[in-house]
Amino acid sequence: MEKKYQTALNDLINYLKNSRFLNDKKVEDAFRNIPRHEFVPSSELDYAYYNEPLPIKKNQTISQPAVVSRMTEWLDIKQGQKILEIGTGSGWQTAILSYLVGQGTVYSVEIKSELVKFARENLEKLGVDNVDVILSDGSIGYSKASPYDRIMITAACTEIPLPLLDQLADGGLLIAPVGDSSQSLVLLQKTKKGIVEIKNESHYVFVPLLGKFGKK
Ligand code: SAH
Repeated sequence: MEKKYQTALNDLINYLKNSRFLNDKKVEDAFRNIPRHEFVPSSELDYAYYNEPLPIKKNQTISQPAVVSRMTEWLDIKQGQKILEIGTGSGWQTAILSYLVGQGTVYSVEIKSELVKFARENLEKLGVDNVDVILSDGSIGYSKASPYDRIMITAACTEIPLPLLDQLADGGLLIAPVGDSSQSLVLLQKTKKGIVEIKNESHYVFVPLLGKFGKK
């Protein structure tokens, strides 16, 4: 990695660790191995390692690093798992999930075709080969490859789309931002007793989830 990016990445990681948004060594390794500057448009390269969301295409954003580390850590990814991500965007979060599952697979659904193309190009540059990017409405999930050990929704939901809860494996975890103008990050588990909330943290802002079970 070029020195200017390496320095900026080290500073970002130190900041995330000090502010307790990054605690897990495996997630730190993922941040070091999946360079964020490969996932931003050329106009944003100077800001790639700022702890800020950045514009990509079609009025969408690459997520803020602190949000990506928080969501990834809560989801407690294990090697070999099968993951469903809704809202591929740039593909950066997707690549981090792919790094953590190793031999497992990530299915990532994106509703905007231009972003599907952008994410596929970015993932290809890094030689990521355990990801399937699907052009579709992710609010109905992707039943073909279900059930999933883990599901991550990276766009704001008014409520969690029911098809996604259906497609979660028993014991599986789902994370999503839930709410209208401001959202809470909610971590849910599917148990024998039903869906149980494990964690909840407020004051996040995501772009809205579109589609059939998205924003009306
Ligand atoms: N995590 C991504 C950013 C996600 S932004 C990154 O770091 O780059 C949210 C994404 O969700 C946007 O790309 C948006 O187009 C997509 N999206 C919104 N509604 C969707 C839906 N119903 N199905 C799939 N993708 C959707």
